[in-house]
Amino acid sequence: MSITSLYSSKLGTTFDCQCGKKHSIPLKAVIIQENAAGQIPDLLAREGLGTRGLIVCDQDTWSLAGKDIWEILNSKGYSIKICKFNGTPLIKPDEKAVTRILVEYDPAVDFLLAVGSGTINDLVRFISHKTGKPYIIFATAPSMDGYASTVSPLLINGFKRTYTATHPTAIIADTGILCSAPEEMIMAGVGDILGKLTSLADWRLGVAVTGESLCETAMTMVNSSVQQVISYMTDIRNKKPEGIKALMDALIISGIAMMLMGNSRPASGSEHHIAHFLEMKYLMDGREPLFHGTKVGMAALYTVALYNEMAGFNPDNIDIEQLIREKPEYDEWCQKIRQIFGPIADEVIEEKGRKDWEPGVYQQRLHTIKQKWNSEIRPVLMSVLLLNTVKSYLNEAGADFSPAALNVDQELIHQALLYSKEIRTRYTILSLASDLGILPEYAKKLTCNPDK
Ligand SMILES: [Zn+2]
Ligand SMILES: [Zn+2]
Repeated sequence: MSITSLYSSKLGTTFDCQCGKKHSIPLKAVIIQENAAGQIPDLLAREGLGTRGLIVCDQDTWSLAGKDIWEILNSKGYSIKICKFNGTPLIKPDEKAVTRILVEYDPAVDFLLAVGSGTINDLVRFISHKTGKPYIIFATAPSMDGYASTVSPLLINGFKRTYTATHPTAIIADTGILCSAPEEMIMAGVGDILGKLTSLADWRLGVAVTGESLCETAMTMVNSSVQQVISYMTDIRNKKPEGIKALMDALIISGIAMMLMGNSRPASGSEHHIAHFLEMKYLMDGREPLFHGTKVGMAALYTVALYNEMAGFNPDNIDIEQLIREKPEYDEWCQKIRQIFGPIADEVIEEKGRKDWEPGVYQQRLHTIKQKWNSEIRPVLMSVLLLNTVKSYLNEAGADFSPAALNVDQELIHQALLYSKEIRTRYTILSLASDLGILPEYAKKLTCNPDK
């Protein structure tokens, strides 16, 4: 039984959760099956989405599914326009692509239909939010967990920032098409899921250290998605429909957990910050990007290792007065950020704000860390799997996320470990290591090992 089906009665509803909050899951349907395109007319009718649509795809997803969907809808009397991105390299979710869709967009359309994986969906989700037109997703690869997301990471002015977007009405995926996805996209999906090992722990750290709220429902969803993928590694490697379906189900439920929380906290932590940092650097250098999930998978090797290392930290070594004295002043920090982030430094500085330099903020946090180390923090650190166990799962899946295999320089990872936490204000293992003044030492240690 799929995890999504366990929550099917909650799709399209608002409910009272044990965490004390009301959650909404506006996503109304998830269909993962053979010949899924044939379900689209019924779905559109059932949800009353109208008869005029705009398909957004690229040349690959057009031949893979877009054309079939267009023919099916045409034969049923629908009027469908097409926005097809041509050419390589891959489309970037930037100003240019947003404009391109708006050029094809006609205010008379009733719904949008995204056919593709990451970038196409990020774009359509954003356009749907801006135009107020509902959209459905026809997912072509189990490569990332953003299908149910309500935010769009867009690359505006060269800076990747998360923009408010809107939920899909439905997510549809054809098992046959998913199985035919390129192996590196499937492995990227595995990487995005393995990243949850540390995103979940990071969330618990945020609860312990900064008093963030927790939702066990969302945590359970994400945790089940990790467990499910771990138990299907061999089937995923062999592209067996049940394995690929389990991976897609896990990715969608992880996205639903984010939808439920209204933010990406359950499924995006330090490993994602590192991945975003690498992506920024790649963009600045004009290098061909790696898949999102691939970067997350690689980053997770380091964040898992950092958890493992820090589990042995002795809280008696926390000298609060000394740490406060050694914390860089705001101006000093800004200078460092300008050096590391170059043209996007202003955006990073603005995003971070000055809160961390307000009197007493850092001091209070250090007191909390020291006081809760044994009771709350160490148990979180210990809860993360050992790196060797994670590597054995990756072996089973046939995935190699080592920097050597992906041609990523250790020095870049070293930088990412040190500075990726500056991209977001969210508390993670990187923030904890930084608060304790041990991040430079650990970052060096983790990137000196040629085995990594
Ligand atoms: Zn992700
Ligand atoms: Zn809840």
